[in-house]
Amino acid sequence: VISAYAWVTLATNDSYGLGALVLGHSLRQSGTPHQLVVLVTPGVTHSMRETLKSVFNEVREVNIVDSKDEANLKLLSRPELGVTFTKLHCWRLTQFQKCVFLDADTMVLENADELFEREELSAAPDVGWPDCFNSGVFVYVPSNDTYESLINFALTKGSFDGGDQGLLNLYFSDWAYKDINKHLPFIYNMCSTACYSYLPAFKQFGSNVKIVHFIAQTKPWLQIFDPETRQVRPSPDLVHLTSLLQRWWNIFCSAIHPQLS
Ligand code: UDP
Ligand code: MN
Repeated sequence: VISAYAWVTLATNDSYGLGALVLGHSLRQSGTPHQLVVLVTPGVTHSMRETLKSVFNEVREVNIVDSKDEANLKLLSRPELGVTFTKLHCWRLTQFQKCVFLDADTMVLENADELFEREELSAAPDVGWPDCFNSGVFVYVPSNDTYESLINFALTKGSFDGGDQGLLNLYFSDWAYKDINKHLPFIYNMCSTACYSYLPAFKQFGSNVKIVHFIAQTKPWLQIFDPETRQVRPSPDLVHLTSLLQRWWNIFCSAIHPQLS
């Protein structure tokens, strides 16, 4: 039986493709029975797509230039909104009843299938402004109506930060106060900067984390890695993140590097 639920991520180029590969493997290792989908754009190479197919059930190209529907045509006049709008395509996966979107710079440390019990739009607070949710991990219900409504909203109201997070927070604007069940615990989207902004909490609760999100400059694939010792050598200011970065590289070395030609 094919699950009606899916984990969904996005890559617009091969470096985010590496993130998606590690994320996909981390999901498989978590033992989830649900489908894995990666959205790709024309910037992802053929060989990366082939590698993505080895872990994702579906590699779906989203190419606004090729599609004919009205919402997409409106987008063509606003190319600067590129990646922001690409993420919105996740709402078009209407073959699924419910999905969890994960940024390609996230990694699942422990099974998190219980997220599918949540409703749209569930997400964890952002570390910079907790009345906003962080859009790196969210539970949603695919729907073409919602997709078109989001696009129209974006074209008229825009995004206050120029990205998908500013847009989604304006659209789902009652998230902050309406229903606490739509507030995911931070362990489902532990932003890497929290290791530094509140180190005692990270030391206390870090072992409970189920999904880590390498926001900002800490992208694991940009760290220095020693192929002989197989150890990541993060910059000195990232010392508290070393074990999480190392987990990312362990998956990369064991499951992905052998597959890359
Ligand atoms: N993304 C992408 N290509 C890009 C930038 C972003 O595919 O050039 C996708 C990818 O899934 C990424 C997500 O959009 O994880 C959000 O961007 P990012 O994670 O870099 O933002 P941050 O979480 O650091 O704010
Ligand atoms: Mn991210």
